[in-house]
Amino acid sequence: MSSSNITNIIRPEITSLSAYHVPESAGYVKLDAMENPFVLPEEMQQELGQHLAQVAMNRYPVPSYSSLKHIIAEKLGVPAGHDIIVGNGSDELIAMMSVACAKPGAKVLAPLPGFVMYAMSAKFAGLEFVGVPLHADFTLDKVAMLAAIVEHQPAIIYLAYPNNPTGTLYDADDMAEILRAVGNTGVVVVDEAYQPFAQTSFMSRLAEFDNLVVMRTVSKLGLAGIRLGYMAGNNALMAEFEKVRPPYNINVLTQAAAEFVLQRVEVLDAQAAELRAQRDKLSTALRATPGVEVFPSSANFLLIRVANAEQVFAKLLNHKILVKNVGKMHTLLENCLRITVSTQEENALFLAAFAASMPSK
Ligand SMILES: *Cc1c(COP(=O)(O)O)cnc(C)c1O
Repeated sequence: MSSSNITNIIRPEITSLSAYHVPESAGYVKLDAMENPFVLPEEMQQELGQHLAQVAMNRYPVPSYSSLKHIIAEKLGVPAGHDIIVGNGSDELIAMMSVACAKPGAKVLAPLPGFVMYAMSAKFAGLEFVGVPLHADFTLDKVAMLAAIVEHQPAIIYLAYPNNPTGTLYDADDMAEILRAVGNTGVVVVDEAYQPFAQTSFMSRLAEFDNLVVMRTVSKLGLAGIRLGYMAGNNALMAEFEKVRPPYNINVLTQAAAEFVLQRVEVLDAQAAELRAQRDKLSTALRATPGVEVFPSSANFLLIRVANAEQVFAKLLNHKILVKNVGKMHTLLENCLRITVSTQEENALFLAAFAASMPSK
């Protein structure tokens, strides 16, 4: 089809976007996507295989997902009395909230630099996205946030806790002030994708705020491949978001695998504890390297700044190490690289390649 025909059909917000680019990573040490590098213990893999073999793949899922939600509530600490909605990754939950709130002129607000899906999903749903820059040290600019909330009256505010790609854990009192300032004019989504590495949460504060939604995912915990996210909040609000959810959005294999693994969540908790210890070791090693600034991180990745990120990124690629060059994402991120924390062995490979990739002298 010709490009003029295309533009007659497709919305301009879409044609002006470039497709989400995922780099080819076969053969690389993959430190770009915050995946958990550990697999399940052999015995558990065998048991899971047998469990999945018995799943009724000929049947549609039961769309209430009540057994899955029960296990999520029990094993991942959702307080009683708060309804849960499950999504095909948190990406789908974000999309559902965007669609549900997309009144004409409605806006979405989030600090920048932040998770790109907030702005993308807003655009897809026809919402206006307003970004509020963080301070240069990536802490929350509370004054600017409060002013933007008054000016724009956003329907949805996203606060990633901790934030991606910076790793920052925003001040909880600042966040509470934002929740109170928004009041009943909008929904504040606290995105806790990295909660296993931050070990702090707003989940226990759901009863305090009617406008709070706590969103999480099993992706960073070690199950990125099965695509499962969940959110909890005020029941009346959840009932509306639930109407937008495609009835069979979680497939039976994902459901069965999640139920099986979450019953044994201590295995993943131990992996997260190991990654937190590795994060601290990697951070110490990088801080000792001349010419590197390491930002504090409560997630399973580190954001660093070097003199020439483009060059260091390219040299790391030559050493078959794939990190994320975020230097062009936002002016505050100039010359920054984001490195996923991995196993002791992969972190050592990274550190050796990194030392060889930094300009000498
Ligand atoms: C990785 C990430 C997610 C996870 O998305 P899924 O679709 O659940 O894999 C959500 N929010 C933030 C801030 C993230 O970095």
